[in-house]
Amino acid sequence: MCGIVACTGLNAGDLAMNGLRRLQYRGYDSFGLSWVDPGGTGLQQCRSTDSLDDYQVRLPHTQTVIGHTRWATHGPVTLENCHPHQDDRGRFSVVHNGIVENHQYLRSLHDPAVYRSGTDTEVIVHLLTAALDECDARRTALRTVLHQLSGRNTVVVLFADGEILGVKEGSPLVIGTSTGQSFLGSDVLSFSDVTRTCCALAEGQMVSISGAQINVFDVNDSPVEIQWSEASMPAEEVGKDGHEHFMIKEILEQWLTVARQATIPIGQLAPLEDALRNSTTIMVLGAGGAFFASEQIAWLLREKGFAALAVPAYEIESVKSCFKPGDVVLAISQSGETADTLRAIEVTSSWGMQTAALVNMPMSTLAREAKFSFPNNSGAEMCVLSTKSASAQVTFGYLLASLLDGQNNMSNDIDAMSSSLAQYFCDETLRTFRRMAASLAQCDRMFVLGRKLFYGTARMAALNIKEASYIHAEAFAAGELKHGVIALIEQDTPVVIFVDVDDNYMLNVAAEVKARGARVIAIGYEDNALFSDFLPLPSVPAPLLAAVTSLIPGQLLAYYLGVARGLNPDKPRNLAKSVTVQ
Ligand code: GLU
Repeated sequence: MCGIVACTGLNAGDLAMNGLRRLQYRGYDSFGLSWVDPGGTGLQQCRSTDSLDDYQVRLPHTQTVIGHTRWATHGPVTLENCHPHQDDRGRFSVVHNGIVENHQYLRSLHDPAVYRSGTDTEVIVHLLTAALDECDARRTALRTVLHQLSGRNTVVVLFADGEILGVKEGSPLVIGTSTGQSFLGSDVLSFSDVTRTCCALAEGQMVSISGAQINVFDVNDSPVEIQWSEASMPAEEVGKDGHEHFMIKEILEQWLTVARQATIPIGQLAPLEDALRNSTTIMVLGAGGAFFASEQIAWLLREKGFAALAVPAYEIESVKSCFKPGDVVLAISQSGETADTLRAIEVTSSWGMQTAALVNMPMSTLAREAKFSFPNNSGAEMCVLSTKSASAQVTFGYLLASLLDGQNNMSNDIDAMSSSLAQYFCDETLRTFRRMAASLAQCDRMFVLGRKLFYGTARMAALNIKEASYIHAEAFAAGELKHGVIALIEQDTPVVIFVDVDDNYMLNVAAEVKARGARVIAIGYEDNALFSDFLPLPSVPAPLLAAVTSLIPGQLLAYYLGVARGLNPDKPRNLAKSVTVQ
């Protein structure tokens, strides 16, 4: 969701474009750049509602650029609403991530005739114009503006003389440096192909960049010493590796990415293990797909005898009485910037709970703010749907649950699971899923049923199918069938069921829906005459690892359904990967 880049030095134009392309995965609907014209004509800009992939224009030679990918919150996707927004005297350009919650009031402070866009962002332009008229000191003027805004607003301003000011309030800003060059980006991925020497701004900090000069200031405008570090990024980079889409590339990488969880030294987990053992109830927290991963993890912890509840981040207030100060909240997020999850953590911290974070993006806000932080190490995940990060998170959950159960040989099981997945991802499996998807592509709804460990699996599969194919897939606990859902079954209604080994209960479910005309698509270990169609589950070395491996058939089905319906599963409509607004 929305991205910011800024770049100074040689080839700044190309590097800024490259940075925006590397932020595309977050989801956006339009983009724009602003730069200082070396010919002395002041600030220039280009903006577009096209895809960055279709935009072939090269920026003119310049050494200072800011750029933005917009995920519209206020005002439709039009050229006037694209960022950057420039003041009418050519003094500065603004890009913004977030929502100015009091923008209606702030708008009313200025003559309506001055507005050229429908965005909340434009109020920042007019407020900054007024503040600069009052006070030449730019940092002070920008702070004055920020104090007037409600909500979380990260803002970057390019001034006509080439100074860039950026303030992190809410969504992240990471600075990067290499010889003669400076970078600013929403994440380190936006420039990590040039440099990994970086530093994430803390909440409220302001950075000033002029050429290679980078200075950081705290909320009181006192200089802050920059603590540079080397971002550790796993080997997978942002290419499609010969695949048609990122989604299938990332699905097929999972044999590799789950195995990385086996390399986490057990000793590193000891402080978290202690805190978990001392928790009366463990909260596992997430939003969207990460919430379903949380359900799997909570299930694994409960299986091992530990009280654990999965909580959707947006419903945090309702569960206060279930937890005690000191209990651990294990927060799950691919980006580590999910606004709902960050807010929920603020709430649980105010209850005295301790935060452990499981995130894929190094240096993210959640990773930095948590007391215990563990990276997924899944590499860049560019498809909007979480596939390899979800399976890595649940694998980590398996590791934790087993550790709490007093085991210490989990790496063997995880390695064996990795080998099983490597075998599963053969051409024959992919052909089977592709054929099945082609036969289902015309349906407009389907049900997905599971029980026990496969209930969370069914929920994740239905979410993946909705996202990638726009088919209305709805998941239910199989037990709910007779309490309502069965009324919806008609002739040929597709019903996907997850069936465990010797699971007679699910065989009865298959019989019951089949008796009412359903097309029963079973995902399991063994075919059965009751099933209309059968898709295989990967084999597992330990039964509880099915919490991980069972996620994969749903991903494959979702992917091939999207493709069969002529969609691009990497970029579902209206969705953003990193949901940085609440
Ligand atoms: N609220 C702003 C807009 O709608 C910024 C959205 C974003 O963060 O991309 O233009």
